[in-house]
Amino acid sequence: MLFEVMCFGHHLRQDYSGKKMINNYVREGNIGIGSYSKVVLCRNVADEELYAMKIVQKSRLRRIKVAPTETALTDVYKEVSIMKELDHPNIVKLIEVIDDSECDRLYMILEYIEGRCMFEGSGPPGGIGEATARRYFKDVVTGIVYLHSRRIIHGDIKPENLLISASGHVKICDFSVSQRFQGNNDELRRSPGTPVYTAPECITGATYRGRAADVWALGVTLYCMIMGTYPFIGDTLQSTYDEIVHGTLKLPEGLTPQLADLLEGLLCKDPIDRMTLDKVIQHWFYMESP
Ligand code: ADP
Ligand code: MG
Repeated sequence: MLFEVMCFGHHLRQDYSGKKMINNYVREGNIGIGSYSKVVLCRNVADEELYAMKIVQKSRLRRIKVAPTETALTDVYKEVSIMKELDHPNIVKLIEVIDDSECDRLYMILEYIEGRCMFEGSGPPGGIGEATARRYFKDVVTGIVYLHSRRIIHGDIKPENLLISASGHVKICDFSVSQRFQGNNDELRRSPGTPVYTAPECITGATYRGRAADVWALGVTLYCMIMGTYPFIGDTLQSTYDEIVHGTLKLPEGLTPQLADLLEGLLCKDPIDRMTLDKVIQHWFYMESP
């Protein structure tokens, strides 16, 4: 039995137990809260499957300027249009979008990844172990290679945006700061995501190459997986940026030489000399079976 609470273009109502419903999705609980969104677990009464529902409040995001002509809301529409194009086993799928002009909320229904994110912050002390790191790394690389082949820069690669599925595979999520590029020119202006994952050239230059910046963030992510600490971090935002631009990469003595070589390649300060994904997939760490 269903009770109608309000009726917009879509239907917001309650199921028999009083849980909120949006169209055919019953809200089952909370998953996470991001800076601009809230993610909840829901169940589709039509197929009885679980989904993740990312909810944003349009009026609030419309007031947040992120660039001269862009707001946090225009970013959400970009996120939706980019996600609609994507279909890959290592990318979280967008199932549908519920968005009515009469309603202040926009709902993105996503494939639900039950295993949560890879880890929060810089990861557990001592890292997650080379074997697991390699398995995850391969999935992340495969996902990013796909994105770049579709001319999409993720812009916020980090463990919190890498979800682990029930079968132990990585699914890249959060396309909220992703950008498209044209042809082979991936020169971007708006600096991406999260400070500790930001490439040096994004800090020092007016523009940067998106693909190389994603590769840097991949390098920081791999470093966290292996070490459980950030490669470059200070006490303040400014000192973190100084470390990223000027600090030397510290690798422990006993690290597998090929892994050290990969980390040095990914975390090369000069984007021109930084390892490209073509090279990454030929690298021992990627090639060698676990
Ligand atoms: P934000 O743009 O606010 O960072 P995200 O898209 O990263 O939002 O989602 C916030 C958090 O919600 C993620 O870090 C993750 O823990 C969780 N989450 C997002 N999408 C899913 C999903 N499809 N399945 C399970 N959890 C998810
Ligand atoms: Mg996120």
